[in-house]
Amino acid sequence: MVKNFSDDDFRDMYPDEETAIKELFEMNHGTKPCPKCKKQTKYYKVKRRKCFECGKCGNQIYPCKGTVMENSKISVRRWLQAIHITNQEGLGLSSTKLALRLGVGYKTAWAINKQLRSVMEQLNKEKNQIKLSKRVEIDETYVGGKKKAPKEGKKTGHNGRENKLIVVGIRQAYPARIRTFYFPDNPNKKRINDLILKNVEIGTTIHTDESALYQDLNKLGYKHDTVNHSDFEWERDGVTTNRIEGTWSKFKRAYRGIYVSLSEIHIESYLAEFDFKRNTCKKIKRDRFEILKSQLFYRDNRVLDSLEGFYQFPLVLQA
Ligand SMILES: [Zn+2]
Repeated sequence: MVKNFSDDDFRDMYPDEETAIKELFEMNHGTKPCPKCKKQTKYYKVKRRKCFECGKCGNQIYPCKGTVMENSKISVRRWLQAIHITNQEGLGLSSTKLALRLGVGYKTAWAINKQLRSVMEQLNKEKNQIKLSKRVEIDETYVGGKKKAPKEGKKTGHNGRENKLIVVGIRQAYPARIRTFYFPDNPNKKRINDLILKNVEIGTTIHTDESALYQDLNKLGYKHDTVNHSDFEWERDGVTTNRIEGTWSKFKRAYRGIYVSLSEIHIESYLAEFDFKRNTCKKIKRDRFEILKSQLFYRDNRVLDSLEGFYQFPLVLQA
């Protein structure tokens, strides 16, 4: 059993492009009869093209079609290598680093990185259909930009927002799960309530600071406890938001460097990468590689058919 999934392991598994593209073809078309002549035929790889051909009727299939790799000049193996790299790296992978490790230009690496994050976003969305429960912490933070948000701004969510992006996070205590959400406009009470109702089971114990944003939670059917940060209170009788605040510092550390230029356009994809990697950090690297690969190989942006598929193995992939 490969535990760490090193660069050598990757090279052994995918020695060349033929191996990589064949796996992609077999995953989506492998055992099915030819769609044109309807016979159980053998398909052959066409030389120098990302294409397979039926041995009987000559029908051609492009296995990248419908996947995020469609219209890409990059080889399937390189896509897999990019997944391998992002899987090895920490919570955030910069396109500069990816370019260096893949041996491609910055623009290419940026485009690949963007698609990989969209793959993670899909996986998160699927997973997020299950509500968080038992005990969660909720908090908001300001990221990007150069100015520090003033204290009052944090209280009401109205001031000190120049260049700053507001992100709200929900963190379940056990098993540890994080979901982060970008709010393009000020998060008011109603929008926060909607978000929580959608993501947290009624009856759950919720810990927050004393922000006015969370005042309705008891009314909505949650057990709501607060810590009063303005009184320098950080933990009282087990009520704490320390974990979600630890999550914020992890996020900020992961994106230090590009953090100042974190823009509205990209914030959601960075958050998606962060959530995905945080929530799967206990996974064996090889398993996480397989999760990302199956989503990359999937056609028509379909997500894994079974929710269990995300965290349980072996993956059940239905054609
Ligand atoms: Zn055929």
